[in-house]
Amino acid sequence: MSIYTGPVFEMCRNQFLQIADHLQIGPDERDRLLYPKRAIAVSCPIHRLDGSVTLYQGYRVQHHLSIGPTKGGTRFAANLDLGEVAALAVWMSWKCALAGLPYGGAKGGVAVDPASLHPQELEALARRYMQEMIPFVGPHTDVMAPDIGTNEQVMAWFMDTYSMYQGRTVTEIVTGKPVGSGGTEGRREATGLGVVHLIGRALEKLGQDFSGRSVIVQGMGNVGGVAALELHRRGARIIGAGDHTASYYDPKGLDVEALLAHQGKHRVLAGFSEELAIPSEQLLEQPCDVLVPAAVERVINGENAGRIRCRILAEAANGPTTPEADKVLAERGDEIFVIPDILCNSGGVIVSYFEWVQDLQQLFWHRGEVLSRLHALLDRAFEEVTSRAAREGISNRMAAMAIGVQKVRDAKRIRGLFP
Ligand code: GLU
Repeated sequence: MSIYTGPVFEMCRNQFLQIADHLQIGPDERDRLLYPKRAIAVSCPIHRLDGSVTLYQGYRVQHHLSIGPTKGGTRFAANLDLGEVAALAVWMSWKCALAGLPYGGAKGGVAVDPASLHPQELEALARRYMQEMIPFVGPHTDVMAPDIGTNEQVMAWFMDTYSMYQGRTVTEIVTGKPVGSGGTEGRREATGLGVVHLIGRALEKLGQDFSGRSVIVQGMGNVGGVAALELHRRGARIIGAGDHTASYYDPKGLDVEALLAHQGKHRVLAGFSEELAIPSEQLLEQPCDVLVPAAVERVINGENAGRIRCRILAEAANGPTTPEADKVLAERGDEIFVIPDILCNSGGVIVSYFEWVQDLQQLFWHRGEVLSRLHALLDRAFEEVTSRAAREGISNRMAAMAIGVQKVRDAKRIRGLFP
């Protein structure tokens, strides 16, 4: 019996069981490796502008403390629940371990649609959430970051709330802050740029380059939007793009800059063009060289996996492909080169780690240094994953997860049952 329920946690559990079988992990170790060290649920009441009070449910799940503090984003999304947060925390553990970062995984968030709040209400909620988390987080305990629905401003509010409580400025309590408030150069773009860097490595493996490659990006937020623009700059053709309000498709290539300008003005893609609009569920199914799911979990599933038509699947989102979809993709045998999520989107947490290190030392790096260190860590992880996959005859996803789980397992074995 577990408090972690729902389809996203179930998906994560199924993935873990596959890896546990592959690594021949015995029953004694399985629960300890999968289930989080602790989970915190808090109530966050705020005054609304109309004078009423609304209570929002907040969560933070810390998966393990065997390597160092826990690390992970904070998601503000309407349907967020504990099972989803826990799955995202587990994936963060494997992601950090794969990248070689000295962290366990965490994730948190609030069940709220941030677009439904006035900026003052959003500030009140962000501050209240951090206030509730103060007993459970710290620069050497658990370090938050942005995720879906949060941004640099929210991180600055978190940092300020924690700092006021401590009576001094503690920039190292969160990452993804504005550069002027202890943030690092390159963090905002890091996830998207990391995705593009790894697509480059995958293209190289296939004997190709960016020039003229057709790309579809599902989700044009901080990750998908940056990736689309960078891919366009490198000569790829963005033939499809969508967010939760609209999707567009043009085999000749969309005007990415115009699309992002529209989004900048209206916050959403809806209203960009009538002729180019396609139903959102069809976006992922259009033929392309590179498909980039950059939104939420489980968009490629047992039902639609048979209709995905790409050469490279670059998983910028967390958990976009279900184990059922993996099975269909493997059975099709038509060789989609998958860059699995815990590798593909790890640029974000890697540069978060750089931000934390810089804050602790109060010694700041220039953008070139951040990006070259980012590329070095991504290249090492890419190499480890692809060579293990080839050596053991397993998928890139299995290889990535096996490396992550094995590193957490080794750390736990050496330390014993406590952390
Ligand atoms: N939320 C991001 C992720 O899922 C970033 C986490 C971080 O920077 O700590 O990887």
